Amino acid sequence: MTRPAYTPEAQIAEDIEGYLASHRDKDLLRFITCGSVDDGKSTLIGRLLYDSKMIFDDQLSALEADSKRVGTQGQEIDFALLVDGLAAEREQGITIDVAYRFFTTEKRKFIVADCPGHEQYTRNMVTGASTADLAVILIDARKGVLVQTRRHSYLCHLLGIRHFVLAVNKLDLVDYSQDRFDEIVADYAGFARSIGIADFTAIPISGFKGDNITALSANTPWYAGPVLIDHLETVSLDRAEQQAAPLRLPVQWVNRPNLDFRGFAGQIASGTVKPGDAVRVLPSGRTTTVSRVVTLGGDLEQAVAGESVTLTFADEIDCSRGDVIAAADAPPEVADQFETTLVWMDDQPLIPGRGYWLKLGTQSVSATVQPPKYAINVNTLDRLAAKTLDLNAIGVAELSTDKPIVFEPYAQSKVLGGFILIDKLTNRTVAAGMLNFSLRRAQNVHWQPTDITREDHAALKNQKPRVLWFTGLSGSGKSTIANAVEKRLSLMNRHTFLLDGDNVRHGLNKDLGFTEADRIENIRRVGEVAKLMADAGLIVLTAFISPFRAERDMVRAMLPEGEFIEIFVDTPLEVAEARDVKGLYKKARSGALKNFTGVDSPYEAPEHPEIRVNTVEMTVDEAADAIIRAILPLK
Ligand code: ADP
Repeated sequence: MTRPAYTPEAQIAEDIEGYLASHRDKDLLRFITCGSVDDGKSTLIGRLLYDSKMIFDDQLSALEADSKRVGTQGQEIDFALLVDGLAAEREQGITIDVAYRFFTTEKRKFIVADCPGHEQYTRNMVTGASTADLAVILIDARKGVLVQTRRHSYLCHLLGIRHFVLAVNKLDLVDYSQDRFDEIVADYAGFARSIGIADFTAIPISGFKGDNITALSANTPWYAGPVLIDHLETVSLDRAEQQAAPLRLPVQWVNRPNLDFRGFAGQIASGTVKPGDAVRVLPSGRTTTVSRVVTLGGDLEQAVAGESVTLTFADEIDCSRGDVIAAADAPPEVADQFETTLVWMDDQPLIPGRGYWLKLGTQSVSATVQPPKYAINVNTLDRLAAKTLDLNAIGVAELSTDKPIVFEPYAQSKVLGGFILIDKLTNRTVAAGMLNFSLRRAQNVHWQPTDITREDHAALKNQKPRVLWFTGLSGSGKSTIANAVEKRLSLMNRHTFLLDGDNVRHGLNKDLGFTEADRIENIRRVGEVAKLMADAGLIVLTAFISPFRAERDMVRAMLPEGEFIEIFVDTPLEVAEARDVKGLYKKARSGALKNFTGVDSPYEAPEHPEIRVNTVEMTVDEAADAIIRAILPLK
């Protein structure tokens, strides 16, 4: 039973409109192939591209031209050429990312993500798997289920892939043995069950010989099907399920061409929407009714998951980029604390407590991660104790955001449950993450509105609250100058409080040391205390080395615009070290004191401080006077 070759040329010649329409309406299956080159991955992909006869991949068009040229010499030659090309390309591109290849058959379009399989490329596999509907797990029939088979399956399952194909390859090299096939399938079935893979389809194949790829092979009379391509063409795509779920539409932008039109544009993540539907905008929770469902091609009577539309509302309610429009009676959750699973993708390890940008759909917030509860050994799936996550590590950790976000658990929605973390300084994507669930304490702790507001506190004190944040090396003069500034403010009848690094470490922060993570937590707590005091209407002065830009910026972000005044006490290291007020530099140089800023721990100088004082050029009094002048008026 040979499958008739798909010959688009004939259809194009006869009925180009019909061809284009059928092509447009075909649905798309995204899948990922897992396995190494040794397992025959390139050969299998080559076989799929070759047998489907339609190659749209730019890099392959030259190869295709070549294969047409040599076509008269028989199939094996151009097929081999194609495979060589794929393997060469994979070697060159191996560290870059994921190679996506496009091909089509009569029934479906396909995008296959071809990722390197070694453990050091876990992040590439995660990238490829994050958008895939199905995973083809490739096994060398001679070797059976390997550590990497388990790792790949685990990662794909973790990333939410629900359809698995176990392609037992190189069957020609085990004499098409049914026993061997059955043995491998039984072995894999046990493992799959243990990690929660509900179902998989096992197919005995030879990518090289082409057995059971497009047609049932005479070499495996014991196998009744399906063959690989048929399975890929017919496997259900979960689209119906996606449409049956309640409406979720993350707003990408507000479309306001003129005063009469205000629409909210985005791609429908799940559900359907039509004029007259009651919707709720989150996180605000306001409700309204949909008036129109607008597209470039005109208004729709109904739009479904996957479509990009612009909605207009019956009422003028607030709605902007990052909000989520949802079914009014089944809204998603809003929370700011979560348990998450993280895949770390950067050379710089996770720094617990540091602020990262978190992007989830169209929402963008600042987030901090707790030290991991555990990391997962991706080969054995054991849970390991971990203080951080290194490149390619996977771990479970609690995360909190500075503002509530609209979300759904990743298992329910990749769009509203999957996120990335971005380093605020380098702008690199450092992690891919999945929201597992929100923490109950976040749901049950509400902000208690009070009758006396921060404005009332400030008005009573007849001043504008501020946080004067002194930063600089140890011995640069932060405490001395802050003290002089506070004395001046006090003489001016201002209400102040000076938070000093050493003093805070005797009480509130006595549990913290001087590792990077502890320094970050130290500053976070001081920031929160300074914020409370500013809420109480005080002018707060803080004298902390606060060596990291990211944490100073984190405190800046906690406060209303203009209240955080960064004062860089700019004293050269040699000068501060020569002063050595507390004898700490000497200890650090001798090695008796570890992680000392300026010696064996970095200091990141402010780039744009509100005020800079140079203690080599200015006396303490001059510096204090300059600061007072800079912060006037005080009301
Ligand atoms: P920090 O709080 O930054 O660790 P300190 O204020 O404790 O630094 O120590 C700074 C030391 O430098 C003090 O002994 C102070 O008298 C001395 N010093 C000398 N000149 C200056 C100046 N122009 N500004 C600030 N401090 C100075």
